[in-house]
Amino acid sequence: MPRLIFLGAPGAGKGTQAGLIAECYGILHVSTGDILRSAVANQTSLGLQAGLYMNRGDLVPDGLVVALIEERLNNPDVQEGWILDGFPRNVAQAEFLDSLLTDINQFYDYVVNLEVPDDVLAHRMIGRQRSDDTEEVIRNRLKVYREQTSLLIDFYTKHKKLAIVNGNQLMEDVTADLMKLIGK
Ligand code: AMP
Repeated sequence: MPRLIFLGAPGAGKGTQAGLIAECYGILHVSTGDILRSAVANQTSLGLQAGLYMNRGDLVPDGLVVALIEERLNNPDVQEGWILDGFPRNVAQAEFLDSLLTDINQFYDYVVNLEVPDDVLAHRMIGRQRSDDTEEVIRNRLKVYREQTSLLIDFYTKHKKLAIVNGNQLMEDVTADLMKLIGK
């Protein structure tokens, strides 16, 4: 069963595609954004700490997210495969992930970058704007992506693990390309 990491700018369709692919292959979809949002909604201690950063479109401190991933990947239900959606978000998290996976003897098959041109991203972001998202928060999220998360493209290219999929096509065509890459 595949183990995959999905990268992509905000608005690239990463969450949607990760959900579809996870369902199709019967593997776990681990979205740090979803886990954090539910912690915020339930006002857990994690949620109370993370909410402040999320409201600004900033990254939640590594320590909080890393603990969450460590707990998730040590669960027995992940043995059949997984998709990480939204993690890692910076080089420190990527390095942590490599050492965690070595420790628990699991290895990813692909890091997939869903590529979408900037002008298309901007258009999509405005279209899916949540009521609590101001334009400033959206702009900050893109800035954080460019300054931190986009460095992962280099990081994984050096590791010879990066696969690029064109995210600027019909949703079902993106899914089909992903399935072709992953195989049966
Ligand atoms: P997402 O749904 O993946 O766009 O994530 C929503 C928000 O959750 C982000 O803007 C961050 O504030 C936070 N977040 C999600 N994943 C991470 C991560 N790996 N590291 C730090 N913050 C994260």
